[in-house]
Amino acid sequence: MKPIGVFGGTFDPIHYGHLRSAFEMLQALRFEEVRFIPCGDPPHRGVTYANAQQRMRLVECAIEGQPGFVADDRELRRDGPSYTIDTLHSLREEFPDRSIGLIVGMDAFLGLPGWHRWDEILDVAHIVVAHRPGWKAPDIGVLGEMITEHGTHRVAKLHDATHGSIHIHAVTQLEIASTEIRELVGAGRDPRFLMPDEVRDAILDMKIY
Ligand code: ATP
Repeated sequence: MKPIGVFGGTFDPIHYGHLRSAFEMLQALRFEEVRFIPCGDPPHRGVTYANAQQRMRLVECAIEGQPGFVADDRELRRDGPSYTIDTLHSLREEFPDRSIGLIVGMDAFLGLPGWHRWDEILDVAHIVVAHRPGWKAPDIGVLGEMITEHGTHRVAKLHDATHGSIHIHAVTQLEIASTEIRELVGAGRDPRFLMPDEVRDAILDMKIY
């Protein structure tokens, strides 16, 4: 059975940078599906601008009708900070025998050692790192060592084992940032063409940002 890709984020709001990365991963790594999991209460981010239900709604608008894309609200249904390790354990319970690939951007990967129980992630899932503009893979320090020990170039390894590998994968680089979209919308400008029209319409309808 093909691996499940897990794409977590604040998605405040979701945009074509996220969607294109996820789509390239879905195709190139031959994932069964990519699950978009908006963070309920982001432990690292402090505030979000849109609330969790609104961010979830935007994700649903973004992926509607796209085969292989799934919106997953499990972090919204859990109380307390949304730790990725808890999300992965909950997926592991639901899918005991499936390969799970946690998708993170390179910037998120570089911050991994600050995550709650980060060193347990590879016991539950693979980590798939998407190259993001301007970020280089670490070759020293704790992440450098982790890549040396667990890194693989072989996509088949993500299919053969349910967890335990790190795979770095280059994706088309779209320089779109949620922060800039929020500023743009806040300034009364139109975010069209940075995201699907359905997401743009929902942002304007709900008067977020
Ligand atoms: P912000 O501007 O609010 O910091 P962000 O997009 O960096 O937004 P998240 O929504 O939490 O923050 O990102 C979710 C995931 O998407 C992260 O792993 C991040 O690295 C990745 N990501 C963010 N922007 C892009 C982009 N333009 N292309 C590819 N991946 C991205």
